[in-house]
Amino acid sequence: MLKIYNSLTDQIEPFIPLHNKRVSIYVCGPTVYGDIHIGNARPIIFFDVLKNYLKAVDYDVTLVSNITDVDDKIINRAFDLHIEESKLTKRYEEAFIHMTLLLGSNLPDQMPKATEYVVQMVEYIQELMDMGYAYQTDTGVYFRVSKVEDYGILSNQKVAELSRGVRIELDADKEDPRDFSLWKKTTIGLNFDSPWGPGRPGWHTECAVMNKEIFHGEIDIHGGGSDLKFPHHENEIAQTYAHDHHHLAKHWMHVGRIDMSGEKMSKSLGNIVLVKDLLQIYDPLAFRLLILSHPYRQPISYSEDLMIQFSKEYDKIKRTLKKTYLTLSLEGLKSNVLDDEIMKQFIKIMDNDINTPNVMTLVYDLLKQINKSNDPNRTAVLYYTAKKILDILGIMPRFEIRDDVLSMYREWETARSEKNFRLADQLRSKLTEQGWL
Ligand SMILES: [Zn+2]
Repeated sequence: MLKIYNSLTDQIEPFIPLHNKRVSIYVCGPTVYGDIHIGNARPIIFFDVLKNYLKAVDYDVTLVSNITDVDDKIINRAFDLHIEESKLTKRYEEAFIHMTLLLGSNLPDQMPKATEYVVQMVEYIQELMDMGYAYQTDTGVYFRVSKVEDYGILSNQKVAELSRGVRIELDADKEDPRDFSLWKKTTIGLNFDSPWGPGRPGWHTECAVMNKEIFHGEIDIHGGGSDLKFPHHENEIAQTYAHDHHHLAKHWMHVGRIDMSGEKMSKSLGNIVLVKDLLQIYDPLAFRLLILSHPYRQPISYSEDLMIQFSKEYDKIKRTLKKTYLTLSLEGLKSNVLDDEIMKQFIKIMDNDINTPNVMTLVYDLLKQINKSNDPNRTAVLYYTAKKILDILGIMPRFEIRDDVLSMYREWETARSEKNFRLADQLRSKLTEQGWL
């Protein structure tokens, strides 16, 4: 049985979906004002693997990930670039989709945009006000945190600590420094009409409302980067509890951050690695291997050396699989049968809180068996078992055998049997160069 670590209870718990085999997952998506960095890529990879795995063990999964296309950062960036906000958000939404696919992830089933749900957000905020959970000031509408008993439940923060963690906003009207903005009154940049004057919704409200509108009730898994636990996720929980009197999600899954050689990635330190720059140099799937070779909840200390190491590792995996695929193709062998025992081990490891690093240990062992195998039928079973696992992880190398490769291989075999060593050597180095030997 699948067990996952629930950030909400701080425990590994059995995963029992709310509606039989149907699983609902919501993952906080990007604010589209710039290119994504490798830290942003980690949840994109992890939650794709989670979905693939749940599907492989017969769950019917719906994965939703939002696009935040209205935000101060967007307005400021568009102003700096002298372009319309919608042009900026469209550009970076497209870039985000492109990177997601390049990283070997599928697109989520739905990618709702915040600007498409503003009417519902306004209604939602009004309802919170009517219930006494929100109040209006000169600068906007705020959520009354003191009215929610369990506030701080996810990040386990005490009231006093929470007050310290929150940036005190310049708003003397706020009842409590912890109160957060549901609606910001403003006429600068993209803004919408509301009963409280023109402005735009708060980020925490966007996710709470899109969740409600799409899933209509408690969901199975809410995910995101660990940096979103507080205040973003805490505030999503508080609003849902206040508005609908139920928990937003049964399980909360948070993916660890990526540090740069032990330091936090930040603009001021100038140590941000953008995904698009990384993929100019390295195979996207080698980066995916790096991510999946680390426990998902732990931070990764990234360095160029680490990337090079996994790039070499991935080349080895690719080489073994290509070589095997070529020999199987030459013999016309394909297997629909998988190795039962290995698949059982795989499921056991994944069921233990999606332990992808241990899956990789299993994969390396499987590749060793493939390399040693002298029985073509057994090799076929092992190959297709490895393929099945690597497909779920999204790191199965992509290759196809063209006819000229097959004929080159046959020529090489003939040259060897005829002891034409010069020709055999030439063909051998060509095949090796192309990664087939
Ligand atoms: Zn969110």
